[in-house]
Amino acid sequence: MDLEYGQEHEAFRESVRDFLKGWPLQGAEAELPIEQQQSIFRKRGIEAGFVYRKVPAKYGGSEQPSDALKDKIIQEEFHAADAPRDLSSQGAGMLVPTLLEFGTEEQKGRYIPPALSGEENWCQGYSEPGSGSDLASLQCQARLEGDEWVLNGQKIWTSSAQRAQMMFGLFRTEPDAKKHQGISYLLVPMDTPGLEVRPLREMGGGYEFNEVFFTDARIPADSIVASRGQGWQVSRATLVHERNLIGNPNMMREAFSDLLNLARARQIAGRPAIEDPGIRRRIAEIEGYVQTSELSGMRQFTAANRGEMEKVMRPMMMNKVFSTDVMQMIMKCAYDLIGGDGALAPAEDELDTWGRTTTSTGWVLQYIFSMGPAIAGGATNIQLNIIGERGYGLPRDLRKTS
Ligand SMILES: Cc1cc2nc3c(=O)[nH]c(=O)nc-3n(C[C@H](O)[C@H](O)[C@H](O)COP(=O)(O)OP(=O)(O)OC[C@H]3O[C@@H](n4cnc5c(N)ncnc54)[C@H](O)[C@@H]3O)c2cc1C
Repeated sequence: MDLEYGQEHEAFRESVRDFLKGWPLQGAEAELPIEQQQSIFRKRGIEAGFVYRKVPAKYGGSEQPSDALKDKIIQEEFHAADAPRDLSSQGAGMLVPTLLEFGTEEQKGRYIPPALSGEENWCQGYSEPGSGSDLASLQCQARLEGDEWVLNGQKIWTSSAQRAQMMFGLFRTEPDAKKHQGISYLLVPMDTPGLEVRPLREMGGGYEFNEVFFTDARIPADSIVASRGQGWQVSRATLVHERNLIGNPNMMREAFSDLLNLARARQIAGRPAIEDPGIRRRIAEIEGYVQTSELSGMRQFTAANRGEMEKVMRPMMMNKVFSTDVMQMIMKCAYDLIGGDGALAPAEDELDTWGRTTTSTGWVLQYIFSMGPAIAGGATNIQLNIIGERGYGLPRDLRKTS
């Protein structure tokens, strides 16, 4: 098998490298707050055709023809330069593709551009205290009164709600319909009177999780995506994008390359840890999994482009389970390399659980955090049920129907 990139793609890599000479920003721009610098560079990336390649230009993307190898080259080079690229936030990564599929023209024009730029942050209001894996049993209610929805109830585990300007959420709008058919997908401004966000502290010490309470919170009737009672279908689309985000092989490759750097920097018995046979064996095993995932990703991409999705349905279902396992292996290996430094309490500014792993305590937080994605977006047990039932035609698990 020839795994070299061809001439066209090597030339493309050079053009990406040339573009990346513009990062970090220089002169007066370098004095701006970092978020502003990232936003400036991301916009330049869109103009150059390297950022948001799948999003139509009229909604703020760069609308490029699909090419998995080019995507991979961009990811490799942007990661090496630590440069800002597509946000993998709930807005850009989950809501945008959902709106592209189900939104009205007005909703796409209004919500997609600020979600891509990061000017408007989104959170996901699905889970409730009594409804996680059995999400369709959710009870948070939206009642139509005149030209407004009136919201009442509670959401939980709402990641980054404290920073969000908007929520996409699931609400029971048809209480008399069967449980899956009684749900609608609504877009809720977080500053709506009657909406209250309360933080929940995580075991890593940070505050990414929240509870969100609604008490007669009113939003316009046109805040609905698709029709009344179609929220379940819309949410399935968002969940696929969430699972693809979590199962993204690029994320594994980046964490793996950070792990290699760590293994080069740490010492075991006076020698770089990367020379230790035990560490080398673990790293080689992990790299095997990372490469498998990358090749499977390419295969899925090619099949999608050829309209042969049915050939890759099983590997697609496995992406999330596989990637969360491998991410845990990477973080566990790093955690073992960190050794006693891991016992140090993290500084307050290291409590960003989504950040890069450049410090010992940052790695420890990532290790703790690596257990979360196996639960978020549908727990591994549920995903294994899906693989068994839909992928292999095994008998259905027992479940409540109403
Ligand atoms: C890091 C992280 C971020 C999250 N962010 C968000 C967010 O932004 N918005 C949001 O709405 N939610 C979010 N969640 C919540 C997440 O979607 C739920 O935790 C998840 O769906 C599981 O629901 P639960 O916690 O109620 O667990 P439960 O559904 O009570 O499950 C408990 C255990 O039982 C197992 N189980 C349940 N049913 C079955 C079954 N039928 N077969 C086999 N095993 C089963 C599960 O696998 C799990 O191990 C997040 C969770 C995490 C960890």
